[in-house]
Amino acid sequence: MAKILVTGGTGYIGSHTVVELLQNGNEVIIVDNLSNSNVQVLEGIYKITGINPAFENVDCTDYVQMERVLNKYPNIDAVIHFAASKAVAESVEKPLMYYRNNLLSLINLLELMLNYKIPNIVFSSSCTVYGQPDKLPVDEKAPIKKAESPYGNTKQIAEEIITDLAAANKQLKAVVLRYFNPIGAHPSAHIGEIPNGIPNNLMPYIAQTAAGKRTELKIYGNDYNTPDGTCIRDYIDVVDLAKAHLAALTHLLNNKQEKQVEVFNVGTGRGLSVLEMLTTFQEVNKLKVPHKIVARRKGDIEQVWADPTHANNTLQWKALTPLTETLKNAWKWEQNQKK
Ligand code: UDP
Repeated sequence: MAKILVTGGTGYIGSHTVVELLQNGNEVIIVDNLSNSNVQVLEGIYKITGINPAFENVDCTDYVQMERVLNKYPNIDAVIHFAASKAVAESVEKPLMYYRNNLLSLINLLELMLNYKIPNIVFSSSCTVYGQPDKLPVDEKAPIKKAESPYGNTKQIAEEIITDLAAANKQLKAVVLRYFNPIGAHPSAHIGEIPNGIPNNLMPYIAQTAAGKRTELKIYGNDYNTPDGTCIRDYIDVVDLAKAHLAALTHLLNNKQEKQVEVFNVGTGRGLSVLEMLTTFQEVNKLKVPHKIVARRKGDIEQVWADPTHANNTLQWKALTPLTETLKNAWKWEQNQKK
């Protein structure tokens, strides 16, 4: 059992990870400013686990408040750092907000980890760092491409900050997880994704259209150089993704790590097109989702999917949930939401 500080622990991926941590006997302290989540998530976590983790409504960019949290909860073994702003388009509109939120919170956290002798961090990065890879599936050795958005840039810079700090501080150990596209919800439907306003991402948009909250799904382009002309992504079940954090933590806490900073792709290894996702969602949930093809969305990558071999072999982690289950869970969660 370990004592884990989870920033952004009421968010989409954070909440699912908190559940896995608690179910595996860890003590969890959540720090979240509820900027893109709400306190009901804590009820969902309780319904699944029967445990109320410690919760601090604190913004990670506030150093003084973060210090107060670390004084209140001594002897933390590791930090899992989810807290960040994540809307690509918003980051183009408000770059300073993104640099401040995503980088200042990381810098504060790392500084406090040094001061409070917390040696381990799991950091949420993204496959966006690869841009359009030259080779598919993409592995961790692929070059980092120039970021397409301030959001993507914060992830690249954050990885560099962690690497630089580890070089200067031999006691610091980090696992960087590059997520592909997380989708779905907990099978209990007590927690899931709560999109802020109109969803940008495909899965919540499909689910909300199926529920009648949106009139139709717009498919952004069918003239890409892919088998059916629509973009291809690696969609990873959110519970599988949560379990990758547990595997990363075990790896760190058992001192299995050869390098101070290790980077892992977290994906299924399977690329699916927008049309394949839509068709499968309709089939497994036995419903129709109104849709139309529209022009390409600016900044979209044509195709990307993961080579997850490094995580499979080194973390003994693998994405296991069948797509059909994931899509059923996504729909079950959507139906559980208040209109
Ligand atoms: N997409 C779409 N309609 C939507 C939302 C997304 O056709 O309403 C497409 C988008 O163009 C991309 C894929 O779905 O090809 C995944 O998009 P998402 O925003 O979920 O993830 P990302 O682009 O960040 O990988």
